[in-house]
Amino acid sequence: MLQDNFREVEQRIEAACRRSGRDPKEVTLIAVSKTKPVEMLQEAYDFGTRIFGENKVQELTEKYDQLPKDIHWHLIGHLQRNKVKYIIDKVDLIHSVDSVRLAEAIDKEAQKHGITANILIEVNVAGEESKFGISPEETESFIEKIAGFSHIKVCGLMTIAPFVENPEENRPYFQRLRKLSVDIAAKKVNNVTMSILSMGMTNDFEVAVEEGATMVRVGTGLFGVRDYARI
Ligand SMILES: *Cc1c(COP(=O)(O)O)cnc(C)c1O
Repeated sequence: MLQDNFREVEQRIEAACRRSGRDPKEVTLIAVSKTKPVEMLQEAYDFGTRIFGENKVQELTEKYDQLPKDIHWHLIGHLQRNKVKYIIDKVDLIHSVDSVRLAEAIDKEAQKHGITANILIEVNVAGEESKFGISPEETESFIEKIAGFSHIKVCGLMTIAPFVENPEENRPYFQRLRKLSVDIAAKKVNNVTMSILSMGMTNDFEVAVEEGATMVRVGTGLFGVRDYARI
């Protein structure tokens, strides 16, 4: 049952919080619903889920149109500049900002709608060539470059850790992202907070919570394995 999966993941988050002396209220579970049919999201909605993560603009907007309007949508995947306009007024948070030009495009569209867009900076903390994201070394100067945009607000950092068999292998990357966010917060850049640390997925969210994640993005663990042939 879908609801049992949600309960189990929530309990594992709570247990990880207890182990690390954290308050479970500090950790937000993002239900990553990519590739899953709207009926399944509706079922999750019906037992109380209100925060969904999608990685594709078109899929997010299609689901947005079909589902209740009190859902909070998070765009977690790579975002192209020319698609910002389709989601700017639909999402609570963009997790994946990794270039000045993208930040500029988000700022411009947010201005058009008279809103401030909340964003996270995607950091490629393991330096994987296949991944998007700013290198840890460049993250601070990158944030200084975009902090001046008046219609975006930098709320924290996000990372997609490597796919590993043993989640312990990702602990150093989560520690590194946490340290980076503390260091950047200490600089007190105008218009920038480091209140969100988005890290941890199905395979490693407990380790991420132990290392300070405030948002975990869980797909498979909630909705089951994805069938990419469906879409
Ligand atoms: C798909 C996806 C997730 C969830 O992955 P699971 O391993 O299924 O939990 C998290 N973050 C991003 C950016 C994703 O694209």
